[in-house]
Amino acid sequence: MKEKILYLVYSIYSDIVHTGLHEGVSKDMRKRIIRFNQFILLALLLNFISVFSYFYHKLYISALVNITSAYFFLLAFYFGSKRKLETGRIIAVININLYLIVICYLEGLRAGEYLLYFPYFVVLTFVVSIRRNFKELLSVYSITVIASLACVKLCPYVNNIQTINEALYTQLYSGNLVISLAMTIIFSYSILQVNKDNEVAILQEKTFGDTIFNTSLDGVFIIFSQTNIINSCNKRALEMFDVKEKHEIEGTNIENWFEEHHIKQFNSIKESLSGESRPWQGELTLTAKTGRTFYGFVSVVPFTYKDTGYTKISILDVSYVKMAEFELMKAKEKAESAARTKSRFLSNMSHELRTPLNGIIGASNLLLQEEHLSSQVQHLDILKFSSEHMMMLINDILDYNKMEAGKVELADVPVNIKEFMQKLASQFSPQIKSKGLEFKVDIDDRLDLEFYTDETRLNQVLSNLLANALKFTHEGTITMAVRKLFSSSAKSTLQFIVMDTGIGIPKNKHKEIFDSFTQADVNTTRKYGGTGLGLAITKRIVNMFNSDLLLESEENKGSAFHFTVELKICENRKRYMEDNIKNLDSLEGIRLLIAEDNPVNLSIAKRFLTKWGIKVSEATNGREALAQFKKGTFDLLLIDLEMPEMDGATALKEIRKINTSIPAVAFTAAVYDNMQADLLQKGFTDFIHKPFRPEELHSKISYLVSALRA
Ligand code: ADP
Repeated sequence: MKEKILYLVYSIYSDIVHTGLHEGVSKDMRKRIIRFNQFILLALLLNFISVFSYFYHKLYISALVNITSAYFFLLAFYFGSKRKLETGRIIAVININLYLIVICYLEGLRAGEYLLYFPYFVVLTFVVSIRRNFKELLSVYSITVIASLACVKLCPYVNNIQTINEALYTQLYSGNLVISLAMTIIFSYSILQVNKDNEVAILQEKTFGDTIFNTSLDGVFIIFSQTNIINSCNKRALEMFDVKEKHEIEGTNIENWFEEHHIKQFNSIKESLSGESRPWQGELTLTAKTGRTFYGFVSVVPFTYKDTGYTKISILDVSYVKMAEFELMKAKEKAESAARTKSRFLSNMSHELRTPLNGIIGASNLLLQEEHLSSQVQHLDILKFSSEHMMMLINDILDYNKMEAGKVELADVPVNIKEFMQKLASQFSPQIKSKGLEFKVDIDDRLDLEFYTDETRLNQVLSNLLANALKFTHEGTITMAVRKLFSSSAKSTLQFIVMDTGIGIPKNKHKEIFDSFTQADVNTTRKYGGTGLGLAITKRIVNMFNSDLLLESEENKGSAFHFTVELKICENRKRYMEDNIKNLDSLEGIRLLIAEDNPVNLSIAKRFLTKWGIKVSEATNGREALAQFKKGTFDLLLIDLEMPEMDGATALKEIRKINTSIPAVAFTAAVYDNMQADLLQKGFTDFIHKPFRPEELHSKISYLVSALRA
């Protein structure tokens, strides 16, 4: 029961003192509201007791004044609850002062009501709080002091408005004295308690701050900006710099811990143009006391506290990150160097392989053209096919390697697309027909025009696609088509299609087959041969034409590869070469000087040239070629680029001093970027690759000589 009553009383008290609190009220404001409510509650309590006491002693006017005063306190409480604490407080202050003056006047100073001014001063200190609202406290105090002086000055010692006998005066005086003492004690105690709580809170805050400071993963130094003396540092700073005690760092100059250029960097934050300090962040290499080096991500922030300038230096140890970065960089360099080595190796290797292959291919061509036993035909065919196939593989590897390294650039020369396609068709037609397949060639008639493009690469793409179609089709038709989709006066969009009715490609392999060294079926190599490089190269070349190689295929039904390219139209251009030079005998009487150091290559070339009736003079190096040229008269030069003593380019340079017009064809096994431009710049008119296609050599010679004669 007792507990219930106590609980009820406490609940009422709690409700009253928490009136006016709402969400979002700051800690400080909350305290002020609670204290104000406590003050009002106490004042009302005193009013209540006083009213009873005055009625008891038949001092009805005093009782009335108390009731009026209580009313004003309630009004102040009302304003406080409505978030108008200031109004409430003003009402309360004026009310209490007026109350004391009026009551003292009514009863006379003898009754001792003025004594209540003493606890009231203490109450004000409690309610207003000195630290944060000193001005407010001062004004409230001033009002109260004036009021108390007015009270003492204006009020008579005894007043007879009410009947107060001697004993009652004594009783009133003693009562007021007791109340005033009790209230002074209570509020003094409260103030002490509040101060103690504050101290504890401040101490806790400091401990909390210290804990944050010392548990930070950053090493922190606080420095006096003026002197560069370290004011304090945290535990992590000790660990970083291999120091045991704080006093080894605190009080020392930062010169002991940071290098000169670091300090310059820190100081630079003070010297911005606007005169304002600004933070700095950066990576520095730091040295611990033991000489250990570590990498820190350092932040330098200036701040002012109590008119003193400080600099806060925070260091995050990033050594691990740095090491990982180094490792990554090393690994990257290693990988790049490995890739370069691989690329160089492949390029050298394929180059080296090409030279002996030249001999084999050339020799087999010759053997096939010369007299041989009919029983040898098959072997010679195999020899020719195998060596050409091997050359193709080597070229593929070299090509892929160059493309991977991004070293391939497309040429941009005029090509008649219709003629180009017809030539391609005539190359493939015999093989396709001999396999019993139908070959449909569909060339848009509107393409009998010259377009700027790279004939070699376009040829490579379509040849790869046709070779695959041929390889993977056993019956039905192979179709090669080119169509003009759109056209403007300057450009046309062409679509190339290679279609077959072959084995097809399963859906799940449609993407994979374009990867290098990937084949749709694991048995492909065994059944059909191949390396899986063809489509990877083809796709990359098509990409270089700013297009994409697309595939539509169904297993056992066939495949269609297609792509579209936008090509610039070349108008009014003289044809570079008449392709169909049928009359091979027309080379009779041409005088040609050939310079070639490799005896096999020389003998093969000579055999063809003499066969076509050309008068051949030979030289085995540049110097000899130059000497020969000075002695004789020639229509054409065929010069190997790499020769001992004097290379082809140097020899031609000397020849060009004597004769600027004679056509000079570079005879080379080399393949490199911008080859055509480079050779033109060196004075060559054209070039021919080793191993050469006899028809190509024939057509080049006849074109160059006829152009000269024309
Ligand atoms: P390779 O022909 O040397 O194996 P490619 O890159 O040219 O390499 O082709 C990759 C694979 O794609 C082939 O092995 C084959 O499985 C599949 N492929 C390519 N073209 C065709 C086609 N026309 N019909 C069926 N399968 C094809």
